[in-house]
Amino acid sequence: MLKDVDNEIYTALINEEEKQRNTIDLIPSENIVSKNVLKLMGSIFTNKYAEGYPGKRYYGGCKFIDEVENIAIKRACILFGAEHANVQPHSGSQANMSAYFSVLKPGDKILAMDILSGGHLTHGFKINFSGIFYQSVFYNVDKETETIDYEQVREIALKERPKMIVCGASSYSRIIDFEKFYDIARESGAYLLTDIAHIAGLVVANLHPSPVHLADFVTSTTHKTLRGPRGGLVLCRREYSHKLDSSIIPGIQGGPLMHIIAAKAVAFKEAMTPEFFEYQKQIINNCQKLCVELKKRDYRIVSGGTDNHLFTIDLRNKGLKGNECERTLEKVGIITNKNLIPYDPQPPAITSGLRIGTPLATSRGMKENDMELIAEWIDETLKNRENEKILKDIAKKVRRFAREFPIYPTS
Ligand code: PLP
Repeated sequence: MLKDVDNEIYTALINEEEKQRNTIDLIPSENIVSKNVLKLMGSIFTNKYAEGYPGKRYYGGCKFIDEVENIAIKRACILFGAEHANVQPHSGSQANMSAYFSVLKPGDKILAMDILSGGHLTHGFKINFSGIFYQSVFYNVDKETETIDYEQVREIALKERPKMIVCGASSYSRIIDFEKFYDIARESGAYLLTDIAHIAGLVVANLHPSPVHLADFVTSTTHKTLRGPRGGLVLCRREYSHKLDSSIIPGIQGGPLMHIIAAKAVAFKEAMTPEFFEYQKQIINNCQKLCVELKKRDYRIVSGGTDNHLFTIDLRNKGLKGNECERTLEKVGIITNKNLIPYDPQPPAITSGLRIGTPLATSRGMKENDMELIAEWIDETLKNRENEKILKDIAKKVRRFAREFPIYPTS
């Protein structure tokens, strides 16, 4: 028993489990995997080394491992309509690294969305490998609309002539026009990498346009809206398949995490069901409802609203900062994360924004009417942030409410 062997880790596990049950988690990049996905992540597939690819391994004994990886690849291709899939990246960051390594050389130029506008670290940020290996230039969202200004992207691309254009974001609440990015990439002679880490679930449910037929490379995580195990995925056209595969192994990884690949295969199968489509629709409905309810309470939302699973609150009209709101909301059991707003006057450790998302709450079965309650608790908490008694009262209500939505209802 874990408890007897390692009581410290056992205690942390029990505490985390209780915390997940008792709180409302609104972090847009988090989710709850299905029981089957969870089971496979803890399965004996982890015992096997399998460097290489199905049929071409550097280890013996890979018969069943090969079956698993082939199934995962086939399902990924069907799910996204892709010509080639690599399911081995250990994370979204490694998915991006492998896509860059497939066709870029150190010192090449990439054009991506600035992290200050909602881009990701691996999109050329100066202290990330992507900003160290490559020359990065950035586009930002428009100051007025807080949405991507495609004409600005085009102008920068034609002036800078990057070798690759990267689109996709960690904090962008609007539809991304992949067709426009495709046109810009073709006009400027750049490869196009679309990182759908956040929106992959919406893409497979047809609730966000797919970039798969347009981009040279599509990268993703498998653990956000896609609701699979923590990991990465790359899709590409057949012509890049060899370059991509060899950029992962031997390029940047050794043995694949076969327990995770088995879990990815199950998650892809789950994502092919009508229930998954309904789930994705509910994520958006919940997100839009929560957004509207917060707007009613005079919270300004970056870009005025949301088309997807997340949005960012601009806290400046309330005289609040992201870090203090994150802390105060955690006191009552509402888990969020501070986030920069576009052109934020505050540094990243403080921020003027709070990022909110609904994939996890939706997985627990929460619906639009629950979003109204949550908006009210957020508002009451922030208004009464100095009043410990009121905060305690709200915390009790949040805990009671959260426990009505079990993490695993059938357990
Ligand atoms: N790309 C985007 C757009 C992301 O938001 C993230 C994670 O937040 C990643 C890549 C990296 O994923 P990982 O944390 O698995 O490395």
